[in-house]
Amino acid sequence: MTSWAKLSLSAGPAICKTMIIKCPHCGKETEYRDNPFRPFCSERCKLVDLGGWLSGTYRVPIKNSNEDEDGEPIPQKDPAKG
Ligand SMILES: [Zn+2]
Repeated sequence: MTSWAKLSLSAGPAICKTMIIKCPHCGKETEYRDNPFRPFCSERCKLVDLGGWLSGTYRVPIKNSNEDEDGEPIPQKDPAKG
């Protein structure tokens, strides 16, 4: 019987008790439960990240559905006639 085997067994289940998440802003590991600023580690990170969204730091690429995929030219009316 080796002593290291005992140690590794006792260290296992402890991880399941608390859920640790990484702050999306700074990457700091923080507890998910009892965290009012989750998924962030602190109020500061939450505000900074939200501020980034509002100021347009993060941009979600949106495909323009109006874009012509066929490439067919749209006939334009001549404003001179009429
Ligand atoms: Zn953080």
